[in-house]
Formats: sequence, structure tokens, C-alpha cells
Amino acid sequence: MEPWQQLLAGGVNRLEELASRFSLDIAKLRPVVEQFPLRINAYYLGLIQEPGDPIWLQVIPDERELEHDGYEDPLNEEGDSPVVNLTKRYPDRTLFYVTSQCPIFCRFCTRKRKVGDAGSVSAETIKAGIEQIKKDKTIRDIVISGGDPLMMQDEQLEWILSELRAIPHVEILRIGSRVPAVLPQRITPKLCGILKKYHPLYINVHFNHPREITPESTLACGMLADAGIPLGNQSVLLKGINDDPDVMKELVQKLLKIRVRPYYIYQADLTDGTGYFRTSLQKGLEIIQSLRGHTSGLAVPHYVIDAPGGGGKIPVFPQTIISMDDEKIVLRNYEGKLFEYPSSSGAAIPEQKSCANL
Ligand code: SF4
Repeated sequence: MEPWQQLLAGGVNRLEELASRFSLDIAKLRPVVEQFPLRINAYYLGLIQEPGDPIWLQVIPDERELEHDGYEDPLNEEGDSPVVNLTKRYPDRTLFYVTSQCPIFCRFCTRKRKVGDAGSVSAETIKAGIEQIKKDKTIRDIVISGGDPLMMQDEQLEWILSELRAIPHVEILRIGSRVPAVLPQRITPKLCGILKKYHPLYINVHFNHPREITPESTLACGMLADAGIPLGNQSVLLKGINDDPDVMKELVQKLLKIRVRPYYIYQADLTDGTGYFRTSLQKGLEIIQSLRGHTSGLAVPHYVIDAPGGGGKIPVFPQTIISMDDEKIVLRNYEGKLFEYPSSSGAAIPEQKSCANL
């Protein structure tokens, strides 16, 4: 067994194991994990410092997951699927679900309806997905997802990558993975050697809290970056975990240091049983406002809502345009000061002044 497999095997998958470490009412949690399984690998378990902390909240089952406070498939991924496990929502790209397995099972997961369910994917569905991509010449960009594709065995993952790379109209391959953040030991020299054969290949990682940035995850991201893979981060805004400007600022600044570009902050999807993680939109806007201008633009992600029902990702911004007419636009900067700029090339150049004089 490789070290990362030992960490998985040595983790917690049963409530009894969890109850031997923490004080929990496992009778109440039993129906929760029957609905969405428990998995915390030994590495991630070791990041928990105390019950209720930002690591704990992401992986410990909670009775509130039984509340019906959203949709089973909030993004209507199944409705937008020409074949099972392939979602085509945008004109030129597609999402390809290739595994139900993950390094941990996050309690807020958007795909709780199928993640962790080994029956949700098979060699047949993967082959059917590849055939569909071959047929649909509009697809030039594929997000390989799950579950977590980096949980597959090297040979299986390489087979999928090589099949997709051999399709002439497929230009870009992307992988969505929590592995570098939550089971970084899985990023081995052999895996990097495989991935780098299939460029252009991008990986979107998923860090939610600065405590996930450790010497191990720093090394993993460095190895992927050294393999020439551009890394972007997608965080989910989660109540009590990262819905705080200081926490987010620390996270995005640390991500850049480990060679990961902060890419998206998602407003939490309306997934059934995850309402207790949802924050207000105002909180997300406040966080973006606190980042923009206060730290490098490279560190500021897009704040997006993945529109319920399959409308796709829609960016939301703190208001910067105060007014606009044929002459000028009035803009607000990161400090809240107002500035004028001519709204067309022929318009008069406004006198140089800031809000104090406007
Ligand atoms: S790793 Fe990703 S797909 Fe897996 S449970 Fe977490 S959020 Fe869901």
C-alpha cells in the first residue's frame, strides 16, 4: 500500500470509530451517514484541533443534514446530461463525472446525491461519456470531476486522460480535486509524471481554510506546479468556517504563496441538508470588498453563484459604478472614495478630484 492509501485506510469511516475519539450521539447521526457516508482520512483527521473548529465542521456529520432545506440536484446536472454522468451546460465545455470516491466526504457537498455511492459510476458510464464527447464536436474543454478524479488508480486515470486527449476537438483538460488540500500525500512523482503528459491540463483545487495549507499541501501543490500544471482554487463560502474577511484574506494570500491562484469563491449551493452552512450574500460581498484593493488583484477570486436549476455560474460584485451618463461614469474605489472618468472617448475629461469634492 502507498502512504496515501494507508492514510485512507487508517482514517475514520464508521461512527463507532468517531465516537471513540469525540463525544457524539451516534444514534442521532446514524440516519445522517446512511444518507451520505462518513470519511475522514487520517491526515485530515490530524488537522482537527478541537470539536467545532473549521476542519471538524467540514467533515463531521450533523443532524441538520436531515433537514429538507434545498434541492437534491440544485444545479440540475442530471437534467443537462446527454448521457449519464456527462453534464453539458455551456456551449463548448462539459463536466464529466468519473468516480464517486473522495479523500474525505465533505458534509456540504453539492453532489451528495451521488458522491460516495459506488453505483453512481461504472466502466460503462465512463466509456459512454467518452463516446459522447467523441461525437459532440462542440466540446473543446472538459472538466473531469466526481467525486475526486485523483482518487482513481494511476492506470485508470491515465486511461481516461489518454482517451480524452486523443479526441481531436478536445483542446483543454481540467481536473477538479480536493486531494492536494486534504490528502496531499496522493500527489506522487509518478502521478505528476502521468499528468504532465496530457497538457494543456489545468487543476482546480479546493482549499476552504488557511489551516488546510500545511507543509504537506504546500509540497503537493509545488509538485503539480513543477509539472507545469496551472492551479486555481475554488472555495465554498461556509458559515463558521471561512465567512470572515480576515480568514479569507489569510487563505488567498497563503494560496498564492503555494503557487495556487484563488479563482472562485462559491456562494453555497442550495443543496438539501446543507442549509446550516449557508451564509448571506451580503457576507460574501463584504469579503470581496475587503480583499479588492487591500491585497494583490492576483489574490482576489471571483465571487459566484451557481444559479439554481442550471443557469451556470454568475459573478456577483460589490457595487463600483455609482452612476453613468453620456459624459462620465462615477466609480467607487476600494476605500469607498468616488472618482469620475469620461464615459466615451469624445467626452470632456473631468477635473481631477476625488470624493471629497464630488
Ligand atoms: S471532495 Fe469534493 S466531491 Fe468529494 S465530498 Fe468533498 S466537495 Fe464533494
